Amino acid sequence: MHTQNLDPLELERYSRHLALPRFGEQGQLRLKQASVLIVGLGGLGSVSSLYLTSAGVGKIGLIEDDHVNLNNLQRQILYTTGEVGQSKLALAAQKLEAHNPTVAIKTHPHRLNADNAGAIVQEYDLVVDGTDNLVTRRVINQACVALDRPYIYGAVNLYDGQVSMFHASQGPCWACLFPESPQEPQPKRPEQLAVLNTVPAVIGALQATEAIKWIVGMEQTLIGKLLIYNALQASFEKIGIEKNPQCSVCGC
Ligand SMILES: [Zn+2]
Repeated sequence: MHTQNLDPLELERYSRHLALPRFGEQGQLRLKQASVLIVGLGGLGSVSSLYLTSAGVGKIGLIEDDHVNLNNLQRQILYTTGEVGQSKLALAAQKLEAHNPTVAIKTHPHRLNADNAGAIVQEYDLVVDGTDNLVTRRVINQACVALDRPYIYGAVNLYDGQVSMFHASQGPCWACLFPESPQEPQPKRPEQLAVLNTVPAVIGALQATEAIKWIVGMEQTLIGKLLIYNALQASFEKIGIEKNPQCSVCGC
């Protein structure tokens, strides 16, 4: 099935994966042949992009159109103080390539919207959500349902985070959980975006973990489940999500 092999340097780089039960060289080859799109390079995307790059995903696409602000540095660990004002996309691409030159990094200097989402998403096997707004999440979900791509959702607020995997051909889609409402919440103002800095690190790492598991072919996924983390309680809770037959995106 696989036409590629791992070269001696890859065998050394990924030796801790190769020794893993249910992973091995086949799992690593699957990562090498896979492509992942990461939408947004903030707190979540900083972490998921670093782990997916170091894990050896063959092609990683990055979408971001913002610049580094001083108040990003508390949680957006891809960037440093001297980089305030610079393009997050250019910095991320440069650092991820340095981290693992075997990974092909492709940059998309846009904001994902209904006009460009289909063409971008169809280049990738899976989408990881590093955004912080409902409008972009709705666009990601619609493209993923239309193209039958898995969508790994993550969100953070205050001391809480949540993560799930949506794949409409196998379970609910994101809009089954968050249906469009006439009173769509307004985007949050900066002062409402309070979050403990380690919460996006936990959720971003969980998103990368679920992406790796799906690519390698591990059976247990978060399809149909929402995993909720609370830092104050030091607790994880997993709740079921039902597919909505009347869903405006994936319902029939
Ligand atoms: Zn749905």
